[in-house]
Amino acid sequence: MRPSLFSQTPSDLTSTLENLGEPSYRGTQILEWLWQKRVDSIDSMSNLPASLRAHLEEAFTLQTLTHAKTQGSADTTRKFLFRLHDGRFVECVLIPASPALYGERSDRHTLCVSSQVGCAFACKFCASGLDGFTRNLTPEEIAGQVLLSEELSGKKINNIVFMGMGEPLANLSHLLKSIELITSPWGIGIGARHLTISTSGLVPQIRKLADHPQQIRLAISLHGATDEVRERIMPINNKWPLSDLFDALRYWMEKKKQKITLEYILIEGVNDELKQAELLVKRARSIRAKVNLIPYNTVEGLSWNRPDDAHCRKFRDILSGNGVSATLRLEKGHDIDAACGQLRLKEEQLNTPE
Ligand code: SAH
Repeated sequence: MRPSLFSQTPSDLTSTLENLGEPSYRGTQILEWLWQKRVDSIDSMSNLPASLRAHLEEAFTLQTLTHAKTQGSADTTRKFLFRLHDGRFVECVLIPASPALYGERSDRHTLCVSSQVGCAFACKFCASGLDGFTRNLTPEEIAGQVLLSEELSGKKINNIVFMGMGEPLANLSHLLKSIELITSPWGIGIGARHLTISTSGLVPQIRKLADHPQQIRLAISLHGATDEVRERIMPINNKWPLSDLFDALRYWMEKKKQKITLEYILIEGVNDELKQAELLVKRARSIRAKVNLIPYNTVEGLSWNRPDDAHCRKFRDILSGNGVSATLRLEKGHDIDAACGQLRLKEEQLNTPE
C-alpha cells in the first residue's frame, strides 16, 4: 500500500523531492496544500508541475480516514465514528467549551482522539478493551481525526486530549510523530500545552515522554488510591504498581515542572469508599497533582454503575477540603455512548470488517 502524503514531515519531503530531482521549496508548497488549504487530491496542487503531481500520485495516497457516522448535535458533545482504510473503525469526541468554566462565548473546542484500534490493557470497566487489541493507528490517522473533525464541524479545534480508544503510550513512536504533525506551524499548529496525553500508567514510557522537549501535558488514569483497589480493575497495576508509577510521576514533575492530572472514575462499590478519597489526598499532594473525578459512564454488557450525585460530591469534598484541587466532571455525552470504545463496538457488531 502507498503511504499517505500526510505522513510526511518537511525532512521526509526533502529526501523524497531530492530523489525526484525537484527543488526543496516544493516541500513547503506541498505541506501548505495539505495542512492549510486541505485539498482532497494531489491533482489540485496547482502550483506543482504536472510531472511532480504524477510522481506523487504514483508514490502516495491522500487517504487517512473517512466519516462513517455522527452522534450528537452541533451545539453539544458530538461523537464521530471514522472508518480506516482497512475497514476498521475509530471514534473521536468533540467537546464544546463548558460555559460554566470558560464563559458563554468561549471558542474552546476540545477533541478527544483515539490512538489505537482496540486496546491491550483490559481495564475491567472500559469498552475499548472488550475486544482486545487490533492495531496501532499511524501518525496521519491520529492527526487525520483532527482534520476530519474540523471539516465536519466547521470548528477550529484548539485543545486535544488523547483519551479516546487505545493506550497512547503503547504506540509511542506514532504518538510522537502525530504530535509533530499536530503542533508544527506547517501542520495543524496547535500549541503543545493544549495537548494532554492520558495513560493507564506505562512507567518506562512516562519517563521517555518526560524527556521529550515539548510541554505536552500528562493525565494518569488512576482510579484507585491503593494497589489493592487499583489492581482489581486495572491489570496494568500488577506490572507497575503505584510506587513505581508515582516515582515516574515525580520524575515528570522534575523535568516538566507542570501539574499532572489524576483521573479518577467513580464506580459504585468498587473504588468509591470515602477512605479511598482520604488516601487519594495523600497521593495527589505527594506530587501536587489535581484530580478529575468522573462518575462512571455505564457500558452495555458491563455491570458497573456510578454512585449517586450526593456520594460523588462527598468524595470530592474530602479532596477539596484537604487542599487538593478537584473537579467533579459533570460529564457530557452520557447519552451518546461517549465513553471510549462504545460507539465503535456497536458499529463493529453490525458491520464486522472482513
Ligand atoms: N488508555 C488511556 C487513554 C484512553 S481512556 C488511559 O487509560 O488513560 C480515557 C479515560 O476514559 C481513562 O481515564 C479511562 O479510564 C476512562 N474511561 C474508560 N471507560 C470509561 C467509562 N465507562 N466511564 C468513564 N470513564 C471511562
